Amino acid sequence: MASATIQNELRARFRSEAVLDDVPPSYLRDETETRGLCGRADAVVRPRDAEQVAELLAWCYEREVPIVPRGGGTGYAGGAVPLDGGVVLSLERLDRVRSFEPLLWRMQVEAGVTTARVRSTAQEGGLLFPPDPGAAEQSQLGGNIATNAGGPHAYKYGVTGAWVTGLEAAVPPGELISLGGPFRKDVAGYDLKSLLIGSEGTLGVITAAWLRLTPAPEAAAPVVSCYEGTAAGCAALERVLGTGIPVAALEYLDAATVGYAGGSFPGELPPDAFIVLAEVDGSREEVDRLGAELAEVLAEDASAVFSPAEPSEIAALWRWRDGVSIAVGAARGGKASEDIVVPFDRLGEAIEETLEIGRRHRLPACSWGHAGDGNLHSTFLLVPGDEEELDRSRAATEELFALAARLGGSISGEHGVGRLKRGQLARQWQPRALALHAAIKRAWDPKGLLNPGKKE
Ligand SMILES: Cc1cc2nc3c(=O)[nH]c(=O)nc-3n(C[C@H](O)[C@H](O)[C@H](O)COP(=O)(O)OP(=O)(O)OC[C@H]3O[C@@H](n4cnc5c(N)ncnc54)[C@H](O)[C@@H]3O)c2cc1C
Repeated sequence: MASATIQNELRARFRSEAVLDDVPPSYLRDETETRGLCGRADAVVRPRDAEQVAELLAWCYEREVPIVPRGGGTGYAGGAVPLDGGVVLSLERLDRVRSFEPLLWRMQVEAGVTTARVRSTAQEGGLLFPPDPGAAEQSQLGGNIATNAGGPHAYKYGVTGAWVTGLEAAVPPGELISLGGPFRKDVAGYDLKSLLIGSEGTLGVITAAWLRLTPAPEAAAPVVSCYEGTAAGCAALERVLGTGIPVAALEYLDAATVGYAGGSFPGELPPDAFIVLAEVDGSREEVDRLGAELAEVLAEDASAVFSPAEPSEIAALWRWRDGVSIAVGAARGGKASEDIVVPFDRLGEAIEETLEIGRRHRLPACSWGHAGDGNLHSTFLLVPGDEEELDRSRAATEELFALAARLGGSISGEHGVGRLKRGQLARQWQPRALALHAAIKRAWDPKGLLNPGKKE
């Protein structure tokens, strides 16, 4: 079917405000653009509610038109990029908080509500929705659920899926289903809700979710410590774990990352510092006690330790941390940044090998990430548009995935498989596991029209 025919038919079937004029380029890309990924679509549709999402899915299924669900487009795996035509289904107009019951610690939210709004709504009721992936102003709850996104505080609180008690979704051939709800336990049937969580738009389109919330901690205290070299930094991370201090976040930035992003750090950093950023939260009394213990544990072998106390200083520190990815990318204009995960005790090896892989492929490299979870953002810096460099970065990331498998980890701890890690699952799964994975896809989406070419 030609693009113009698809657009005209869609306009006739749905209100014209739901179907965009032409296809704005911003709907054809995500954060992987500088890695050479940009797609093609026949139409962009922005349904107004869940029923219209199901209707659109039915329309596409009948005509065998591919459908690519899109949240905020902040993904790092190319998941929201339409590869070869079809309809981009943008969830942005499903932006209602359907219910918020602070005394029952729960809310029901539509898929297009931004992460920042979910968190601020919870906060207004004295509650916390803990998942905190970066780009919170752009990323949407549906995108976070579809990628099962993490973030710095996933170390204590778990990833997005841990906070989802129910889902509403449109599934092929075009029906709305509800799984779970405003209740906290559910062992009836196979766990279909968990299959949708992290399915990257390949099994169904999430239209709304029931979320559980928790009382917001009264206080939080981050501690930043600096070390000379990866070995000393990793030894500090291991000390934190070994002492049993219940930290909420346990992050690291290697010296190369600090070289790119350290200029905007809210404080004075020693040269070539490997940084550990840890945070405790809880009641005021707990935080005072645990924060002091944490600073003491981190101070051993450290060349500097910062313990910001004022809320404005703490906010400035996390703003800086949120901006690290962007600052690193700005150094050469582009980056190939992955999200491998390894057992905690192999973290030091993965950090050093990331640098070694970069050297082998003549690409500046660095890494940072959620150390407590063993999750690294191993990154190779690129000049956008330099095809030869891009080829070398592809070879470098292949080695990175092999490294994750060799160290007993996984090719993805946060961003998912999307398009960029296509074919990589075979590194860590047996053929039977791969066959089951493919069979699940066929059972949900027999025509293979939902986000084709992703998560496989
Ligand atoms: C600066 C920065 C920092 C980041 N930090 C983190 C981090 O700390 N942790 C982390 O995990 N990620 C992080 N990310 C990656 C990204 O923000 C997350 O993966 C986020 O959850 C994606 O949400 P989105 O709405 O932008 O989804 P999109 O990019 O639009 O889509 C991602 C995938 O989900 C699918 N999808 C989207 N909405 C739906 C829906 N309603 N139903 C079904 N499928 C859907 C898409 O098809 C695609 O496959 C970061 C990104 C940036 C740019």
